[in-house]
Amino acid sequence: MKTHKNIAVFIPHLGCRKACVFCSQSAITGVARTEPDLQSELVRIRTAIEQAVPTLGGADAEIAFFGGSFTGIGEERMLAFLRCAGEYLGGNIKGIRCSTRPDYINEHICELLAAHGVTAVELGIQSTDDKVLAASGRGHTAEQSRLACELLVRYGFELGGQMMVGMPCADLQSELRTASDIVGFGASTCRIYPMVVFRETPLYRMAVSGEYSPLTNEEAARRAAACARVFIDAGVEILRIGLHASRNLADAPFGANHPAMGELVESEIYYGVIKEKLAGQKVSGTVTIQIPRGELSKCVGQKGACRARLAAETGAEIRFVQTDALQKYDVRIIS
Ligand code: SF4
Repeated sequence: MKTHKNIAVFIPHLGCRKACVFCSQSAITGVARTEPDLQSELVRIRTAIEQAVPTLGGADAEIAFFGGSFTGIGEERMLAFLRCAGEYLGGNIKGIRCSTRPDYINEHICELLAAHGVTAVELGIQSTDDKVLAASGRGHTAEQSRLACELLVRYGFELGGQMMVGMPCADLQSELRTASDIVGFGASTCRIYPMVVFRETPLYRMAVSGEYSPLTNEEAARRAAACARVFIDAGVEILRIGLHASRNLADAPFGANHPAMGELVESEIYYGVIKEKLAGQKVSGTVTIQIPRGELSKCVGQKGACRARLAAETGAEIRFVQTDALQKYDVRIIS
């Protein structure tokens, strides 16, 4: 199977006229929150692309503008970025993707994106509960997300939905509804971000004052896994769970700051899938479970936690066998 890569170009906070309580784009991407002049930005974009091209190794790729609200950076700048990226389209580089906010999407923007080689748009939906959106100062409503998705699907873009777990005023039920809504909006890909509390954000102050209770890594993994199951069952591809490991993430004082949060969540997904398969079965001695090749560490869990939980709950020894015959997240109980 041919692999797919993103050539990531980060545009931290540029284009964002809002200030979500949890946002610290400079902390997440490690890039300063300033707006450099256009020419130096274009040089940065060219450098990022030209450095990435030799590393593609034959994989198909998209140039991906991530980090801020791409369609809110001003039309002139956005078009300059797109024209610059557009010069590299062709061969392995199949298109351009960007991430933005639901309230920065309209017909005019869709026309511009479509005319300049954009193939996929990822929307920061975060929640479809207006109470949750308001508590985070998102500055848009769930209805705006729905309308933006409808428009993007109508224009033929691959739609990605980004959601968060552990926002202020959110609970598991609102998060599961958000995942279902994103599926219903027509997303073919998604990203799940358990909330991390960075130091210089309003959310940090809310956490210190007790107004907000940060998730533990374990709670974050459980809730993100439950949402992930909604996407998996609907056939929506999960592109990422959790932030990339970084010094900034390691310095984050609260929330889902584990450097391998994605792996924790995937372990939790496998735990749930295996438990469902074992439900109603009488097991004793050793249970052998077939799992997809390459997924052993997730099935075993960090420090063997997933296997130990299954063993404690079933009273059996758990043995995993890898096979090429199963797709990701599928398992089979052998004996
Ligand atoms: S929309 Fe995104 S970039 Fe803008 S303030 Fe919120 S989290 Fe930060």
